Amino acid sequence: MANKTADIAIVGGGVIGWSCAWHLLRREPALHIVVIDPDQSRSISLRGAGGFRAQFASRLNIQISLASINEFKRFPETVGADIKFRQHGYLLYTADVDRAEDMQHVADFQRVHGVPVDELSISELKRRVPCLNTSDLIYAQIGPTSGYLDGPGVVRGYRTASIKGGADEMQAKASSVCATGVETDQGHVSAKHVIVATGHWSANLGLQLAVHPEKHQLCFALPAEVDPKWPFVIDADTTYHFRPYGDGILVCYNDPELSQQKFKVDDTPEFSLPAIERMFKIADHRTPGFVNRQNCSPGRAGFYGITPDRHPIIGKVDEIVIATGFGGHGVMHSPAAGLLVAEIILDGKATTVDISALGPDRFRKGKLIQESMVF
Ligand SMILES: Cc1cc2nc3c(=O)[nH]c(=O)nc-3n(C[C@H](O)[C@H](O)[C@H](O)COP(=O)(O)OP(=O)(O)OC[C@H]3O[C@@H](n4cnc5c(N)ncnc54)[C@H](O)[C@@H]3O)c2cc1C
Repeated sequence: MANKTADIAIVGGGVIGWSCAWHLLRREPALHIVVIDPDQSRSISLRGAGGFRAQFASRLNIQISLASINEFKRFPETVGADIKFRQHGYLLYTADVDRAEDMQHVADFQRVHGVPVDELSISELKRRVPCLNTSDLIYAQIGPTSGYLDGPGVVRGYRTASIKGGADEMQAKASSVCATGVETDQGHVSAKHVIVATGHWSANLGLQLAVHPEKHQLCFALPAEVDPKWPFVIDADTTYHFRPYGDGILVCYNDPELSQQKFKVDDTPEFSLPAIERMFKIADHRTPGFVNRQNCSPGRAGFYGITPDRHPIIGKVDEIVIATGFGGHGVMHSPAAGLLVAEIILDGKATTVDISALGPDRFRKGKLIQESMVF
């Protein structure tokens, strides 16, 4: 075991940790950065659906998304990787009158904050996505600048570019952190700044962070007809959603039974077959014959790192910089997260977006932020 020193120690080598490394090195190429992680293959960033959107109901989520989408557009030139960025849209529909009204109000809010949202007639919805049973649907809308990308490609891009820029990796598990260093099972790392980016494991480091694991999963299906230009298609009433992926589709459903189960941070996320059965019941009605037991296979399970108000924590605890709790939005929000953390460290304050409301102490103070568009 050897002790190390670095300018900046980043605990956690998922998409958030590597985005922080890349953004710091882009601003200050001479920085010595070490990224500490015992096993990057368990990163949840490698397991997601690759969706990105600015269709949120909170100003902060919208601003973080808009800044991130701007960066994703330039990813091949700036980071040097093709992340298969496709702005094919996020399309939401409902059969519920009250939800339709809410969705219209939220769309107005989004437009005010610079997010284009178009309403679709039900006949236009059917024309665009013919596999949908639209008989009971009453309202649909699409955010044309949202879409999907290669999530693991984003992690690989930030990691490869950071290592090329001089970042070091240390295969080690952190047991505790303080403002000037990290204690690990492979020795101590002294640093001028410490960043915690350990996703749903973040409650493990003794910092009293309000993050817990919530299980989610996705499947892969090979239906007969898929248009590769389809948007991410979301049933706002049930959360059943799918998007083109390879020759087929990637299908998700935020099963309430699954997300209410309690897990310990070090549990392995096993795939739940009963949850797919519950999804098939929804699919049978909404997309008859399109997704079924014959053409749909279990895919990946993982944990969201969830906070009580479903917004991330970006801010300081005892001079340690925290970037965690990104829930189901960590990949889509990773560019802005890295940028804002770099501003906190290099400028003393984040300026691209006013994130003073995202501090870790907001839960203790009862200053939670509202967000209704989570699926
Ligand atoms: C099924 C599913 C679908 C999803 N779909 C989307 C989507 O469409 N769009 C989207 O944006 N997001 C999606 N997400 C969410 C997204 O994957 C997460 O928000 C994101 O990956 C979180 O990134 P992270 O870097 O915070 O955490 P992680 O990627 O989990 O990285 C944390 C790292 O910290 C390391 N670590 C933990 N403890 C320690 C320690 N003590 N010492 C050192 N290292 C440690 C771990 O080994 C890990 O590598 C989805 C997630 C799931 C499960």
